[in-house]
Amino acid sequence: MTFSTVLITGAGFAGSTIARELANAGHRVHIIDKRPHIAGNAFDELNAHGVLVHRYGPHIFHTNSERVWQYLSRFTEWRPYEHRVRGVVDGKEYPFPINRDTLNQLYGLDLDETGAAEFFEKHREPRDPVQTSEDVVLNSVGRDLYEKFFLNYTRKQWGMDPSELKAGVAARIPVRTNTDDRYFTDTYQVMPAEGYTKMFERMLNHPNIQVKLGVDFSELTDLELYDHIVYTGPIDAYFKHCYGPLPYRSLRFKHEHLADVQQFQQVGTVNYPNDHAYTRITEFKHLTGQEHTGTSIVREYPEAEGDPYYPIPSDTNEALFKRYRELAEKEAGVTFVGRLAEYRYYNMDQVVGAALSAAKKLIERLRPSS
Ligand SMILES: Cc1cc2nc3c(=O)[nH]c(=O)nc-3n(C[C@H](O)[C@H](O)[C@H](O)COP(=O)(O)OP(=O)(O)OC[C@H]3O[C@@H](n4cnc5c(N)ncnc54)[C@H](O)[C@@H]3O)c2cc1C
Repeated sequence: MTFSTVLITGAGFAGSTIARELANAGHRVHIIDKRPHIAGNAFDELNAHGVLVHRYGPHIFHTNSERVWQYLSRFTEWRPYEHRVRGVVDGKEYPFPINRDTLNQLYGLDLDETGAAEFFEKHREPRDPVQTSEDVVLNSVGRDLYEKFFLNYTRKQWGMDPSELKAGVAARIPVRTNTDDRYFTDTYQVMPAEGYTKMFERMLNHPNIQVKLGVDFSELTDLELYDHIVYTGPIDAYFKHCYGPLPYRSLRFKHEHLADVQQFQQVGTVNYPNDHAYTRITEFKHLTGQEHTGTSIVREYPEAEGDPYYPIPSDTNEALFKRYRELAEKEAGVTFVGRLAEYRYYNMDQVVGAALSAAKKLIERLRPSS
């Protein structure tokens, strides 16, 4: 039987899932990453104080996909974790996403579920059609809540007004008439018990997988050695930005350790929509359940320049991406998958789902001749 040798660029969720699937099917995999570590943006590590932190910002695992859940469970035990977020308005913290308690605490009310629904109905500014993120929020909660929780947060996060952003960005955030203060409502809400990096180590620990770190795809000169390439980096970089760069929003992470502080804040993440240059502070011990005499936090400062984190969803950018995708479709020996290659804001579980589907197709295509 002849098996193929495949080069995979990027050791994040997309690349590592495909690597493992190809290796299980008997193929030889060389996986590279330009960073000095595996796990992509989900990389976590013990900091100098022994606290497990996420270098590239908080990553909370949640999914409704049984398939993704079963798959990743092969490589890790889990700890249950339901993420909670509060938003600071005029110096006070309120549950976020907005729910009935947010309304009652903010306006000194005592609404029940029907009362909360009536409140939204009375204050909403109906929009038809709903095209922008501003439309989405005004249409569901009205102007005061929009200005208190969304307007300035969006301006900071995206460097754009909600009226310039597509509806899908704000549509990700629910509004509730009940008192559920969990950020997510997915069936599975968990964190890898020993962290993400340990889980990736197990995914990539296979005799058919060779990992090389600190290697940039653009420096490779031996591509002809491979039967196929899987590329999970930025699609515009692969094509040397021939149509111009695809715009991304970047982030700067400011990590801090607070010795002898048991707990810095009551919940995993606190949003600061209207104050400070940062958008939010996350305290890692809430996410990981780690016991420690001190605590570590991270502040996120959105920036225009830097590593590509969030594709900026606009019609112009999507049109530019489509031009790159047309080139990608003609690139016969290359599979493009992942958030950078597909210019799409993917959650981790969505990337694993997309990678499992891509791996299945590829295994079919590379079926060994006997
Ligand atoms: C701040 C932040 C918070 C997030 N929080 C959550 C969350 O709570 N829950 C959730 O589900 N999702 C979250 N996400 C999304 C999550 O990070 C992604 O879904 C996931 O990391 C995507 O995996 P990927 O493999 O596609 O990309 P990545 O993890 O980015 O991996 C791509 C890899 O390719 C490498 N690479 C790129 N170009 C090259 C090259 N030329 N040569 C070699 N290597 C290259 C990169 O170094 C990188 O390691 C968050 C994202 C951000 C930015």
